[in-house]
Amino acid sequence: MNMHEYQAKELLRQCGVPVPMGFPAFSATAAEFAMLRLPTATAVVKAQIHAGGRGKAGGVKVVKSLSECRAVAESLLGKPLITPQTDSKGKVVNRLYIEETANIAKEFYLALLLDRSLPAITVVASTQGGMDIEEVAAKTPDQIIKVAIDPSIGLQDFYLHRLSIALGLQGTVHAPQFHALLRQLYALFLQYDLSLLEINPLALVGENGDKLLVLDSKITSDDNATYRQQELQSLRDFAEEDARELEAAKFGLSYICLAGNIGCLVNGAGLAMATMDIVKHYGGQPSNFLDMGGGASAEQIKQAVRIVLQDQSVQAILINIFGGIVRCDIVADGLITTVKELGCQVPIVVRLEGTNVDAARDMLQQSGLRFTLAENMADGAQKVVAAANKAS
Ligand code: GDP
Ligand code: MN
Repeated sequence: MNMHEYQAKELLRQCGVPVPMGFPAFSATAAEFAMLRLPTATAVVKAQIHAGGRGKAGGVKVVKSLSECRAVAESLLGKPLITPQTDSKGKVVNRLYIEETANIAKEFYLALLLDRSLPAITVVASTQGGMDIEEVAAKTPDQIIKVAIDPSIGLQDFYLHRLSIALGLQGTVHAPQFHALLRQLYALFLQYDLSLLEINPLALVGENGDKLLVLDSKITSDDNATYRQQELQSLRDFAEEDARELEAAKFGLSYICLAGNIGCLVNGAGLAMATMDIVKHYGGQPSNFLDMGGGASAEQIKQAVRIVLQDQSVQAILINIFGGIVRCDIVADGLITTVKELGCQVPIVVRLEGTNVDAARDMLQQSGLRFTLAENMADGAQKVVAAANKAS
């Protein structure tokens, strides 16, 4: 689950991390009131969407008066913001964050993330923080350092010193602030089962440029830990989540939207992954990942077909079911009923294997509907790729 910047900062604040004072605002009037409450005469108005790159897209603006604050708030609210991290339609801004301004002397990049290949929480840091971090990563990757924290010993002091030296945050002024920050971030990461805690920029601010302050933060928590992170769930912004993914979740289906044109309906996560691999192997692009669960019911099949068909980019569908827990004839019956009921303009390739497969194949063939039967997975993948290519 992703959080908004203002929610991330509230969590950080609760853990003692230095963040600027700020208030969320859902209307232009609320934005003005928020600015009134700040200690500074100027404010930063920040669009709250689940995407970065807002600064470059005009979603982060410094305002010098209440009327300017209102004008900027009105210009952002209710309209899509298109950033390098959104698609071409952008994301509609429904929330703003109004924050006190800071005099920035230097910007750093600092992130904690779960590196699954090690596996360890890894600190990624750079002295080249700010809006061009992606460019730094692409052109001068040596400017980005990574320190993996061995989970068996935790965040020992030598890690803190190594990071201090790499960022030039040594000495009696900077090191104590930086080390305290790292300890707070590491504890927060563990406490809330996070998968990403990113701060960009982490800035040196103040009259002498010697106070560390978190100016932007992105936090992602691990959905697998939802059961023990109930308090985080109130931070979920449903407007930001994919409507089809939410709809699918209601029926116990795990659906993830992708960019291709081949709809995939599969039972079991492993088979679903293998199906996407084989579709790609034969040159096709899946439009989704969909796991109907090992024992897909007729109702789940119906809902799955309906959700996949809602995607306008789907030009062919591959149904790949292994009937171990569920019987193939029940799947066939569900498919026939659903396609008759909903209608389907795109070709459907069906690969069935398992209990009562022969009866199922007969039912599909005699249904009078446009099902193409596949002999095996490779055959199914080739047939669906051919069908999608013919349609596009
Ligand atoms: P992002 O572009 O979505 O990552 O949004 P950020 O919150 O990082 O804002 C973009 C840039 O705006 C930052 O890199 C800063 O340089 C600048 N910025 C953010 N907050 C402040 C602030 O309080 N004062 C000033 N002067 N600039 C800020
Ligand atoms: Mn940022």
